[in-house]
Amino acid sequence: EAHLQVIEAAEPSINAFLAVSADEARAQADAFDERNAKGDAEGLPELAGVPIAIKDMIVTKGIVTTAASKILEGWVPPYDATVIEKLKAAGMPLLGKTNLDEFAQGSSTEHSAFGPTRNPWDTDRVPGGSGGGSASAVAAFEAPLALGTDTGGSIRQPGALTGTVGVKPTYGGVSRFGAIAMASSLDQIGPVSRTVLDSALLQEIIGGHDRRDSTSIPAPVRPMAAAAREGMRRDLTGMRIGLVKELGGEGFQPGVQARFEESVKKLEEMGAEIVEVSCPHFPYSLGAYYIIMPSEVSSNLARYDGMRYGLRVMPPEGVPQTAANMMAYTREAGFGDEVKRRIILGTYALSAGYYDAWYGSAQKVRTLIIRDFERAFEQADVLVSPTSPSTAFRFGEKMDDPLAMYMNDIATIPANLAGTPAMSIPSGLSDDGLPAGIQFIAPQQRDEVMYKPAAALE
Ligand code: GLN
Repeated sequence: EAHLQVIEAAEPSINAFLAVSADEARAQADAFDERNAKGDAEGLPELAGVPIAIKDMIVTKGIVTTAASKILEGWVPPYDATVIEKLKAAGMPLLGKTNLDEFAQGSSTEHSAFGPTRNPWDTDRVPGGSGGGSASAVAAFEAPLALGTDTGGSIRQPGALTGTVGVKPTYGGVSRFGAIAMASSLDQIGPVSRTVLDSALLQEIIGGHDRRDSTSIPAPVRPMAAAAREGMRRDLTGMRIGLVKELGGEGFQPGVQARFEESVKKLEEMGAEIVEVSCPHFPYSLGAYYIIMPSEVSSNLARYDGMRYGLRVMPPEGVPQTAANMMAYTREAGFGDEVKRRIILGTYALSAGYYDAWYGSAQKVRTLIIRDFERAFEQADVLVSPTSPSTAFRFGEKMDDPLAMYMNDIATIPANLAGTPAMSIPSGLSDDGLPAGIQFIAPQQRDEVMYKPAAALE
């Protein structure tokens, strides 16, 4: 009830939610209370009973799911994503669905078909994206926890811009069953929270093998909460922390860089050994991502054809009433400009005669980035960088310049290309008084390794 009240008070200025599922949340909370009264709640995770907000990129049975796109407006999924089933089994009420850039494509939520989300720190500024709704909801105390999806930084960059914690788990560590597909080789669901321990506890609930996701890793969930608790003792003796030379410095806002360097100093004071590592191919990761991602987007979004889900627009009178025309009119009306831009880019990159030059080259770069990580993790246990080059920017500032918008992801994309886990936590307020973030990156399937120094620094 307390969170529903904050939602009601904050939403007119924040717009973090596309749908508030108050009735469902109340019913789920009552069911948990009943279970608790009967003594049935024993053995449930520590977060049992704690409400949570869900990025509208994750399907929820009986609750409208749109991916912030007109093409899915009003679509009610007939099933729950695996992560939603797990939250329900843990007795966690769903507060509602949060706003995002359409189909998770963007870095500001300005590409939502239903209006942008505002940053609670300054409502003239963006909360980052694509998961700006989840980040703002948590930052504004509308929800204690949220889920996001991270394909190129959509959990971590909004975390940095709103002063919250955001985690992208190891690729395959959390089931993608029921996550609306953007770029399948990069997408991961992960936690958004106000503390590192909360994210660890949440990741333990949503993680684990799922046979309904063919890329899900058949391995036990990592001991992330234990690692976070160990970190809270603030002793990092014996831990090697690698500063990635290529991520930071030039192009990064001075205040963001300064808070990052101060954070590294604190890690050192807690006993960590700081080493500089070089990942020479990271400067090419943005280029590789913006070939691979749109290629996968163009393929995944082919399913929105006006027949299966949501919107259907018939051709006007005088135009032949064929399926192909219906599809064209539906997609013209249903998709926004950014989504169309990426479908066109991806279709081009995958077309005969260009495939090897674009997509093939990008995949090779991806391999080189994976090797950079392998080498870096020989010298360091965990890597650090600023999460995002700048603090929250003003609405409209980057909307006419897609490349400026894409630059937001410069530090977050390498982890998606390599499938490594990564998280952003607040590093303090930049010189403009707005939150900045520090990113921790751990080796694949060793998610707990980043939780320890993150919790120590918090
Ligand atoms: N900002 C990135 C993009 O626009 C990240 C998207 C994401 O992680 N979903 O592609």
